[in-house]
Amino acid sequence: MSKTFRLILGDQLNHKHSWFNSVNDSIVYVIIELEQETNYVKHHIQKVVGFFAAMRCFGDELKAKGHQVNYITLNESKKIGSLEAIIEHLIDTLKIEEFNYQLPDELRLDNQLKDICKNISIPSTIFDTEHFFTERDELSIQFKDKKSYLMETFYRKLRKRFDILMDGDKPISGKWNYDKENRKKLPKDHTPFPPKVFKNDVSDIIKELEENEVDTFGEIEAKHLIWPINRKQSLALLKHFVNNCLPLFGQFQDAMDVNNWSIYHARLSFSIKTKMLSPSEVVVAAIKKWKENEDEIGLAQIEGFVRQILGWREYMRGVYWAEMPKFKTLNYFKHKNKLPDWYWTGDTKMQCLSKSIKQSLQYAYAHHIQRLMITGSFALLAGCHPNEVDDWYLGIYIDAIEWVEITNTRGMSQFADGGIVGTKPYCSSANYINKMSNYCSSCYYNPKERTGEKACPFNSLYWNFHYQQKDLLSKNPRIGMVYRNLDKMDKKVLTAILKQAKHYLKNINDI
Ligand code: FAD
Ligand code: SF4
Repeated sequence: MSKTFRLILGDQLNHKHSWFNSVNDSIVYVIIELEQETNYVKHHIQKVVGFFAAMRCFGDELKAKGHQVNYITLNESKKIGSLEAIIEHLIDTLKIEEFNYQLPDELRLDNQLKDICKNISIPSTIFDTEHFFTERDELSIQFKDKKSYLMETFYRKLRKRFDILMDGDKPISGKWNYDKENRKKLPKDHTPFPPKVFKNDVSDIIKELEENEVDTFGEIEAKHLIWPINRKQSLALLKHFVNNCLPLFGQFQDAMDVNNWSIYHARLSFSIKTKMLSPSEVVVAAIKKWKENEDEIGLAQIEGFVRQILGWREYMRGVYWAEMPKFKTLNYFKHKNKLPDWYWTGDTKMQCLSKSIKQSLQYAYAHHIQRLMITGSFALLAGCHPNEVDDWYLGIYIDAIEWVEITNTRGMSQFADGGIVGTKPYCSSANYINKMSNYCSSCYYNPKERTGEKACPFNSLYWNFHYQQKDLLSKNPRIGMVYRNLDKMDKKVLTAILKQAKHYLKNINDI
């Protein structure tokens, strides 16, 4: 009987894939803990452990269903060598006659597997991952004759095509967008629903990483990995989200709180990224809950959530495949500074950054606005090189895979793409952070001051950034107001602000 080898990558743990519809003894499924995946960037320990734990569970589940699985641990794979060497070794030892794999989500692996297939002696076939709503090249085809992409246009088309929150050709209630209703600060006396976390014992994987001297950072509790590592846990987290968080998701989507690392966000990104959950089943579950509880869950909440998954997630993937590999080299502002040392410790007097970084080190997670308007905005205002910023984001978050990390970081947050993903740089002075959080009230710095010992660094750095980038940004209609204010500013005041910014930039590791 001819034998087929089917490779399953660490982010292809899709239980519903048609590969698994029936059991076939001539097919061997291969899952490999690869050294190359542990060190293409320095990762948070929870990220490496989370992926390996989920891969092990998936392998066990396939075996329990009767599939033939060859699971290769890091200890074993390192003895054989590179991915190519392992594939060749298996083809020889198992007498394989055909090689199959699913489309990787990252260009790095896409290129590597294409090269491997050129070199091996047997035929190979590529399969779709059967995961996303759209095809890889859909965005580039849709916007082929346009000057730029637009998330909103892409998203509306998908709403229509998949008939999601639609009433015929029109959006339910006539409105596409509820962003303006979704920008509330957490009230003082409000305690969010406690986050659902898991207590997975991952001591054996941690031991394996130590034995193999895998260099990681961040914290982990060996017997309490909080992230879902299998489908059952992923479904439990989805249920927790729709039951307890969805009613307030949109409203407090942008809120940040000094005492709560997790508010009403889904924290489903790891489960979706590894494909333990499909984006469509997440959207269906949320809409079902909303339909059953329309009194409790407003349209703004459900639309806000659907927009993230159907809109932003698919859009970012489209941009990735349309713009890579050039995207990875873009540095619109020619920024060249290093990321401050305290990005690796959280030891800064700036409360918003300290809290956001420390929680990222503790949980491998921060929500979107912390990533965009705290750590991302500061790195942009501090003129950090996008490569440095990318490496930090790609390493630190449990859900960080290049296709979604780089488009959000280099694109949306650093505007290093000059406006491919978004239409303006996302950054702010202390005013926005003070409006959306309670960080400032316990901070060493004063959010109202622009100069002086206690002046919030965001303020002077914000004006300094716009002043320095006038040639590139002043014609952008979305930030015209900033330049009108800058032009009106008293020259002496401006000089003092620029001096303050210079001082902070010079002493960036001590602020
Ligand atoms: P929720 O806020 O509850 O949203 C629900 C789901 O929508 C998420 O699980 C995710 O699947 C999807 N989603 C929401 N926003 C986005 C977005 N902007 N792009 C793509 N999908 C989105 N997301 C990653 O998955 N991996 C990354 O490496 C990553 N890096 C980021 C870096 C920066 C600088 C920024 C600003 C954002 C980044 N994001 C990344 C997007 C977003 O912050 C995370 O998807 C989100 O915080 C995950 O947490 P959650 O599941 O609680 O999301
Ligand atoms: Fe952050 Fe400035 Fe507020 Fe401190 S004062 S928390 S540094 S915005």
